[in-house]
Amino acid sequence: MHRFDTLAVHAGREDFPDLGVHAPPIDLSTTYPVADLQVGTASFDALVAGEAAAANPIYARLHNPTVARVEQALARLEGTEACVAFGSGMAALTAMLLAARTRGGHVLVVRPLYGTSDHLLACGLAGIRAEFVQPDEIAAKIRPDTALVIIETPANPTLDLVDVRAVATAAGEVPVLVDSTFATPVLQRPFELGATYVLHSATKFLGGHGDVIAGVICCSEDRARPLRQVRAATGALLHPLAAYLLHRGLPTLGLRVERAQANAQVLAERLAAHPAVARVFYPGLGTVKNAHLARSQMQGPGALIAFELRAGYAAAAALMRAVRLVTPAVSLGSVDSLIQHPSGLTHRVVEEGAKAGCGITPGMLRLSVGIEHVEDLWADLAQALTAAEAALAVDNAA
Ligand SMILES: *Cc1c(COP(=O)(O)O)cnc(C)c1O
Repeated sequence: MHRFDTLAVHAGREDFPDLGVHAPPIDLSTTYPVADLQVGTASFDALVAGEAAAANPIYARLHNPTVARVEQALARLEGTEACVAFGSGMAALTAMLLAARTRGGHVLVVRPLYGTSDHLLACGLAGIRAEFVQPDEIAAKIRPDTALVIIETPANPTLDLVDVRAVATAAGEVPVLVDSTFATPVLQRPFELGATYVLHSATKFLGGHGDVIAGVICCSEDRARPLRQVRAATGALLHPLAAYLLHRGLPTLGLRVERAQANAQVLAERLAAHPAVARVFYPGLGTVKNAHLARSQMQGPGALIAFELRAGYAAAAALMRAVRLVTPAVSLGSVDSLIQHPSGLTHRVVEEGAKAGCGITPGMLRLSVGIEHVEDLWADLAQALTAAEAALAVDNAA
């Protein structure tokens, strides 16, 4: 069994020697010839039942070999039997909720989590009733119709950490989904900690270059079948070109995450010492909920930082206008650094009370640190902090 860095480069490429290729072939077929009807019918039955592959792929909504390769690679990296890829992280979560409904309509959720995930759960659109709880309430809140427990660690945007082992124990027989998007399998492998499902917005670090929207769920083969059934029935597919790009990003995943994380530690320390900054939320500073878990269940604190400006919303808005190298934009996990305003953008759709309860304030910004040179990043942030302070001083004088 090879180590993680080797798997990141080679997994999902096992059939290359037989194919006689050195890069993943991109199969764009929507349909496949069915010369032998008996084989076709058996293949159709297998795929509709959620099998990973069949003698004939039949139709691209049921199976695609380019997508299957990156699924195999990600299953290896997460240490699971299977992985099911979707057209986005939200499509993955939706498929999960639809599959869970057959077990019952009640889902326990720990806040905070990605704004649109919160919204999808809170609004009931997927036909489930979400109950938002603290991690230590899970055991007491489980009911006969509880189909799933959902946590996100590190959480978006506050970087709160949740103890995956403790939640898995509290959930007992109820499956636990961990959104591990912020950690990547480089820093955290929830399945090995007792989680049932590991979800990634592969749009973020896994893709890593800001050019792919994708979502994946890694789990056992048994658990993967209902997810594939939902995917085939609802059409929440990952396009093979997106699958190719996702696969292309994986060999550098470890390098990217390690470099971005090293940058983030330096930037977090300097932000914490800056007079315009009231608070920095970063596991590597010990300034988030359950920061100790960054060492016990993670291999490091990651590359996301949240911070609050002393002068609140106006300073946050001024800083977003003033950055030059860092891009003011939502999303995260790209090779380039991105900064955004959770309350006004990614977490806009979260109920006001819930936002305040999680500490998502008007003065908070979330920085996704890239792999640029750290001194160039700090120079840009420092000038933007100065520019923001100057803009506020002018406003106050006027
Ligand atoms: C972005 C994100 C999602 C949603 O993923 P999409 O690919 O944008 O649909 C889910 N969870 C987390 C933690 C995210 O950051």
